[in-house]
Amino acid sequence: MIDTVDQSTRSRNMRRIGSKDTGIELLIRSRLRQHRFGYRKNIRIPIRHEGKLIRPEADIYLSRYQAVILVNGCYWHHHGCRLSKKTLGEMKPFWRKKLGENIQRDQRNIAAYNSIGLKVMSLWECSLRDKNDPEISYVVRQLEDWIKIGLGNAAI
Ligand SMILES: [Zn+2]
Repeated sequence: MIDTVDQSTRSRNMRRIGSKDTGIELLIRSRLRQHRFGYRKNIRIPIRHEGKLIRPEADIYLSRYQAVILVNGCYWHHHGCRLSKKTLGEMKPFWRKKLGENIQRDQRNIAAYNSIGLKVMSLWECSLRDKNDPEISYVVRQLEDWIKIGLGNAAI
């Protein structure tokens, strides 16, 4: 298959997808604020993990609930859903390697958060993108239930 997007455009797109404060993050944070959840955003938490000091970035951190929310772009974190477009096997080696590393880093970070007693929600772009208000409210309710009473890691 021929790539129709040139390399520099693709890099720009990837940076945008990988960047902070995506529309979905803003949406979730505004709902959490409305519902009086205290949180910090884009915070790096130093963790000693497997003999190394790492500083994974939490998109949203709710210290009162010992909870971290990772808002994952489906392409960038390779969800394998309708927004992921290709399987890893269909990708060019460069992207296959890059997304493979992202997946490994996500798994490592979740394990590290767990090792210091934080639970982790992986909130995927596809559960919120192009959804109507009731659908979004439903996801937010699930998320808030998990924040308050969820016992371990989860994904929506
Ligand atoms: Zn997805």
